[in-house]
Amino acid sequence: MKTLGLIFPDQLSKNNPIFDSTKRDIQVLYFEPLDIYFDQNHHKQKLAFLFSSLRHFIKELNLKNSDHVPVTKGQKNGMTDLLSDYIRLNNYEVLEVVHPSDHKTLTQLTLLTSKLGIALKVHDDPKFISSADEFKNWAEGKKSLVQEFFYRWLRKKYNILIEDEKPVGGEWNFDSKNRVSINKLNEDPPEREKIKPDALSVDVMVDVENVFGKNFGDLENFNWSVTREDAEKKANEFFNSLINNFGPFQDAMDAGNPTLFHSLLSPYINVGLLDPMKIIVKAEKKYYEGAPLNSVEGFIRQILGWREFIRGIYWLKMPDYKSLNFFENTRKLPELFWTGETRMQCVAKAVESTKELGYSHHIHRLMVTGNFALLSEIDPRYVCEWYLGVYLD
Ligand SMILES: Cc1cc2nc3c(=O)[nH]c(=O)nc-3n(C[C@H](O)[C@H](O)[C@H](O)COP(=O)(O)OP(=O)(O)OC[C@H]3O[C@@H](n4cnc5c(N)ncnc54)[C@H](O)[C@@H]3O)c2cc1C
Repeated sequence: MKTLGLIFPDQLSKNNPIFDSTKRDIQVLYFEPLDIYFDQNHHKQKLAFLFSSLRHFIKELNLKNSDHVPVTKGQKNGMTDLLSDYIRLNNYEVLEVVHPSDHKTLTQLTLLTSKLGIALKVHDDPKFISSADEFKNWAEGKKSLVQEFFYRWLRKKYNILIEDEKPVGGEWNFDSKNRVSINKLNEDPPEREKIKPDALSVDVMVDVENVFGKNFGDLENFNWSVTREDAEKKANEFFNSLINNFGPFQDAMDAGNPTLFHSLLSPYINVGLLDPMKIIVKAEKKYYEGAPLNSVEGFIRQILGWREFIRGIYWLKMPDYKSLNFFENTRKLPELFWTGETRMQCVAKAVESTKELGYSHHIHRLMVTGNFALLSEIDPRYVCEWYLGVYLD
């Protein structure tokens, strides 16, 4: 069967099953202009990160049987037509893809292949440890879905921080040790190494300015790795100099330092440049080399617990989940979410780092902007759209 394997910018895992498929001599299409990138205002650094990571990946793999559709002007809502033309022209009978990260793209591919009368094969997403189906089975029959229980279940399943079938240290969760105030910090967090964009990244930035010039954020402060090798360096930087203080100051905020001891690894994990299980195993190893258990367990819980749980919930509840509005809030997002201009210093600082870096840590997101959005009765649709757009992850 003549097969086309699709690769999107956030599907760069080394073990992407499409590349297994290349052994069967299929054509690979690297495809940038997903409709979801045009649907709303995404941070320019996020788009540059996605496209630059993909283009570096293409260069690294250097596959013969491959094509690349880059992002260009005038492609808004053009994904289905572009793919449809490509498939028709080359008479493909099967479209293979890794499970897309969002519901809309999956629906579009399902409808497209059905319209063209060709088969669609969707592989599990290797960027996640648990599959959407596994989560569904776990959730089946439960009255309420609690992250902590899913996390414990995965800890046992993968034998992470488990000794003699019991959690290391006698507890599953050491969060109570992870709420130290910033006033107790006696040293500045170490400087992180800067990343200089190479020529390929600069080309991508030019494309982003051309196509998404009016979007949020700017590219001057772009300081993200775009290759697996550099992402691994960032992971090592975290494990070598930040993890010990990660736990205690995980929930702290500092007006002068938006990143503190956080790993800043989420963008790399979310596009497949870093593998979540490998990162977890590295963290576990740090514990056996002497890193504090509250830091290591807290870090592992974010990836094995929260990341897997929230992803499971997304696929379990979508598409209805997107339009839930329990409090029937109707307000629009105030302009300060884009400008940061407000006398509320915590909100101003959270928006400032969001704009400058495409990043803010979980407490800024949850307790500052999230809490403010809830208290000011903003329609959750606008809130979700903002979160989806403004962060690299
Ligand atoms: C309102 C809101 C929106 C968010 N939107 C996203 C999003 O779109 N994409 C995203 O990846 N994360 C999201 N998060 C989770 C979390 O804020 C980010 O993953 C984290 O801040 C990324 O920074 P870091 O890599 O420095 O994380 P660290 O604090 O160093 O944590 C380590 C890793 O754990 C994972 N992680 C940490 N916290 C969470 C969490 N609450 N849920 C899921 N995974 C987590 C990430 O992979 C992260 O890299 C959101 C949180 C909130 C409260």
